[in-house]
Amino acid sequence: MAATHSILIVGAGVFGLTAARELRRRGWDVTVIEPGPVPTPTAASTDISKVVRMDYGADDFWTALGKKSLARWAEWNMESGQTLFHKDGFLVLSREAMRPGGFEFESFKILTGQGEKLQRLDSVAVAQRFPAWAADKYPAGYLNPTGGWAESSKTGAWLAARARREGVRLCEHCAFERLLETESRVIGVRAKDGREFRAEFTLLATGAWTPTLLPELSGVMWATGQPVLHFRVANPTQWQAPHFPVWAADIGRTGWYGFPALADGTLKVANHGPGRRVHPDEPREISPQDEPRFRDFLRDTFPALADAPLIGTRLCLYCDTFDGNFWLDHHPQRPGLVIAAGDSGHAFKFAPVLGELIADAVEGKEHPARKRFAWREPKVMGGEGARAR
Ligand SMILES: Cc1cc2nc3c(=O)[nH]c(=O)nc-3n(C[C@H](O)[C@H](O)[C@H](O)COP(=O)(O)OP(=O)(O)OC[C@H]3O[C@@H](n4cnc5c(N)ncnc54)[C@H](O)[C@@H]3O)c2cc1C
Repeated sequence: MAATHSILIVGAGVFGLTAARELRRRGWDVTVIEPGPVPTPTAASTDISKVVRMDYGADDFWTALGKKSLARWAEWNMESGQTLFHKDGFLVLSREAMRPGGFEFESFKILTGQGEKLQRLDSVAVAQRFPAWAADKYPAGYLNPTGGWAESSKTGAWLAARARREGVRLCEHCAFERLLETESRVIGVRAKDGREFRAEFTLLATGAWTPTLLPELSGVMWATGQPVLHFRVANPTQWQAPHFPVWAADIGRTGWYGFPALADGTLKVANHGPGRRVHPDEPREISPQDEPRFRDFLRDTFPALADAPLIGTRLCLYCDTFDGNFWLDHHPQRPGLVIAAGDSGHAFKFAPVLGELIADAVEGKEHPARKRFAWREPKVMGGEGARAR
């Protein structure tokens, strides 16, 4: 009988947990270490909601991966017996007519070309169907009924419970300190509490902490802080689908996006923008400019929300790569070490397919995504890495 492979996974965010389950399913002996509880409050994967969409402009690859993930999210709802994913639709509006080259135009073109039933909208239709919007400012766009949002913390808790049930050893409150290496190979890690974990392979799935834990990566990936603001609305149903689905407001140019209200009236707004470079362990505070900036946007686009009470803020971290693509590969100079990071602010939606992508990289299996996520040299890209809208 073939010897069982073993792996030590560092980090229990969505990269670490999905990889753990998939490798366990493939017969690997799997241990995961995580400094906090799972899900841990500072992880990017821990939040009330994440957008799940197939709309990726003209990029065939992300579009196909988004579609595959959407189908799997429905399966996860069945498998978990919970609503981890809400198919509330994804509303994509533009402040100008949709034009070639624009995120809205290219998404609409590629998806309708593939037979997706998108509903084209103009200001009149927006005013009728989505009354919260300042419709006169959004003359064009569409609704993609096959999109929505995932309850990310709930998903993380479910993945952890499943992983444990499937035989993954999940060690909470255990932080990576350094790699254990012989002359020729990485053989495990030493934790801050002195424990040593040895395995055939070590997978660093440490998100925005990765370039800090492995500084040789800091030229190709870095941590950026992104503000998230939670407002309270008095009448939640008014701010829920179908009148108020997941939305993107001229996102190709502005980065603004947000979510329907939760049952308790919490309404999340965020911006998929350049963010600011941070150290992952520095205090997680939004900057003083953020609230006024968000309120200016709300006043302009959702006037009824402009003065809504602010009930929570969060500085969440992207692990940005220079090209916006994930980093899933063996370390070329350090055998035994594998990296799964570089989410660039858009990986959670792919949770149902991430495990396979990472497990294939660990096993060195050929995969259409292989080239895009392989170890690569930095190329000069525009600004803070290319934002995969
Ligand atoms: C503001 C914001 C909004 C986002 N919105 C969306 C969205 O709408 N849709 C979408 O698809 N994606 C979205 N994302 C991206 C998504 O959240 C990430 O792509 C994904 O969660 C990254 O997962 P990860 O496992 O790489 O990182 P994380 O979830 O951060 O996990 C890394 C783990 O490593 C652990 N770790 C750190 N140091 C150590 C150590 N020394 N030892 C052991 N473990 C360690 C951490 O505690 C953490 O649990 C958003 C991200 C942010 C920041």
